[in-house]
Amino acid sequence: MQKKGKFSPTGVNGNILFCLIMILPIFLAFVQCSVEKKQDAEEKRSELIQPAKWWEKLPRPIYAKLEKVDTTQEWFEVYKLLDGTYAVYEPYQFEEAICYLVIGKEKAVVIDTGTGIGDLKKVVSELTHMPVSVVNTHGHWDHIGNNYQFEEIACFNNADCINRLRTRVENSSLKSSITGDSIWKPLPEGFDAAAWEIPPVEPSILLEEGNIIDLGDRTLEVIHTPGHSPGSMCLLDKKNRILFTGDTFFPGPLYAYPEDVNIDDYIASVEKLKSRLDEYDYLCAGHNDPWVKSEVISRVSAAFQEIMAGKGEYKEDKGIRRYYYEGFDILIRADMIKN
Ligand SMILES: [Zn+2]
Repeated sequence: MQKKGKFSPTGVNGNILFCLIMILPIFLAFVQCSVEKKQDAEEKRSELIQPAKWWEKLPRPIYAKLEKVDTTQEWFEVYKLLDGTYAVYEPYQFEEAICYLVIGKEKAVVIDTGTGIGDLKKVVSELTHMPVSVVNTHGHWDHIGNNYQFEEIACFNNADCINRLRTRVENSSLKSSITGDSIWKPLPEGFDAAAWEIPPVEPSILLEEGNIIDLGDRTLEVIHTPGHSPGSMCLLDKKNRILFTGDTFFPGPLYAYPEDVNIDDYIASVEKLKSRLDEYDYLCAGHNDPWVKSEVISRVSAAFQEIMAGKGEYKEDKGIRRYYYEGFDILIRADMIKN
């Protein structure tokens, strides 16, 4: 049944008015769409940062050497690194985020929680029945996406990190991460791209330099490594001689260019990790590869020294330079280099 509206235009003027009212929303939608397209184009990341078809180099060679573990959650790949140590990897989205499940005799933690696109808690529940809490290496969105699924959440006692956890990451700033070249496989079933956001959480534990997280028969030592972000930290599993590095190191282009980077702090943090190289053999990084020989830290240190001395090979685009090394690169703003 068609209801008769109050507005019933008759005559020539009425028809013009009626047409205008019908056309106006279409016209406004067209204008808005053009503006959005322009913004998207402007926000498209430089090829230096996000190369086209970045996924063509996947799978990365290291994964053929690791023990793959089944999961019902197709968005993730899970690899067992050691007894009670799993890498949970998101290979289909540009960040290639990796979080880690670390299980002790009494407790388990997940180090970082990825982009929030997949159901991390489900993956974790398939690997352990222990209660699992979260330890964040820092507060960037691609490391905290699933924090909201867990009760107990720890981060370094730093205002920037705490504020990031407490701040909702809106859909408008996330959507470019799941469109165009940023993903190469379908999003998980039931994932609502238009509603996707990262909900705020309240950290329940604030960690300090040297704190020991005791999981029962294995511990994680907090090493504050500011630079990539003010609240960045690494976690040292002394017994198993592995270091969880977050974004302080990963085998890819290290982000030393964004606004919240403090380059002097970053270099000092790399030196700090270098001074403790005798305590760990492998790095479990926040992106790309979960199992990297620790010697690379010495070479990252040397690379930063070289760059700051005005040397090294690079390409530059819009004031950002990408310096090329074996096993990693460094993205840095030209104005950060003093010489
Ligand atoms: Zn980061």
